[in-house]
Amino acid sequence: MKNEKNITPYNKIRRNLYATVEKNEKTDRYRFIACALCILLLASVLFFIATLMETSKTNNKYVYCYGNTEQKLSEELAISGDIQLVDMNSLADYCKIEKSTFFSKTVFKINGTEASFENGSKEATVNGLTVKMPAEAIIKSGFCLIPLETAKELVHGINVSTEGKQTNIQTNGDKLYLVARNPEIEYITDISSFLDYINSNDEYIFTLANKQNALGENFPEDKDSLIEIPEQYRKSSVIYLYSVAEKALEAMMEDMFAAGLTDAYVTSAYRSYAYQEMLFDMYIEQEMQGGLSYEEAREIVLTYSSEPGKSEHQTGLCVDFTTKSIGGVVDDDFEGTAAFDWLVENSWKYGFVLRYPADKVDITGYSYESWHYRFVGLEVASIMHQTGLCYEEYIQNFK
Ligand SMILES: [Zn+2]
Repeated sequence: MKNEKNITPYNKIRRNLYATVEKNEKTDRYRFIACALCILLLASVLFFIATLMETSKTNNKYVYCYGNTEQKLSEELAISGDIQLVDMNSLADYCKIEKSTFFSKTVFKINGTEASFENGSKEATVNGLTVKMPAEAIIKSGFCLIPLETAKELVHGINVSTEGKQTNIQTNGDKLYLVARNPEIEYITDISSFLDYINSNDEYIFTLANKQNALGENFPEDKDSLIEIPEQYRKSSVIYLYSVAEKALEAMMEDMFAAGLTDAYVTSAYRSYAYQEMLFDMYIEQEMQGGLSYEEAREIVLTYSSEPGKSEHQTGLCVDFTTKSIGGVVDDDFEGTAAFDWLVENSWKYGFVLRYPADKVDITGYSYESWHYRFVGLEVASIMHQTGLCYEEYIQNFK
């Protein structure tokens, strides 16, 4: 993508200039030289612009750790050659490992094992013995970065899994420790100001609304907590979402747009009790037009819509997506879009999950909805993504 964008205009200009040169070379040698100089000049200008673009992309790259703290790591601090590094300081905080730093040296006390690392050294000292590491330790700016392999041997009870360009560490507990992700291709935006929202632990974001857990007519009481989704991310009419989820959505949409999926947008988010009531009645009426009784129609509508009070949309924590390419409809066509593929792979990183998966219909009570995404925060979303549990199952197993 990147190369095409840079080379295509260059080729065009070059072709045009060559044409000019051919026309004139027999009659005017000086013009030929001038043109050649022009080509060189243009080429260097284009090269300069390309370099600038590349630099700005590099500057916007981010890699972060998720544990007790959030930290931004540049790519050079996350990966050494092709060796994945991990910040032992964060891991120590997270796993309650004692640590002390003296200038360029950091010592960790891990269940009776004493391990020390020295900045720039490929050798660690473990209980007085020298241990070779596949890459040098980097001790600077509050980090103690060592090869992931070495950390795995030292700290027991951590499971490491790699997923594309991302590495996850799971400790004995339930929590996930997101070590690093290399955003080289997909992530060219800086969403760091949204991380607090994505990582939120605000109790409200865990609200469960389903057929067994109805919300009151007045829910949520604090209507001011619902804020507008920016115009570029929604259909023409105003759509509200719970503040924290809304901010996380903005980060997700920003990255989605940066990935080239600019035709995706939100078509529905918060819906009031009264609105849901109106929708539900309307669906029943539609079904009854086929000659069904009220009860029969209601039975069918319940498989794809909610009774008022039981819709997750009333929480303001979920969104329905569509794209311009499918004409803004909210149906199974969404599954065929690139936006859907992107969301399946990435939405959890922003705390959103596919709420009604195809293989969980019996548990969620809803048919598969490829377009409906629910905000639960990064921690829960990562666990759901890793384990493949739906939200009801997550609550049963982890709460
Ligand atoms: Zn929905």
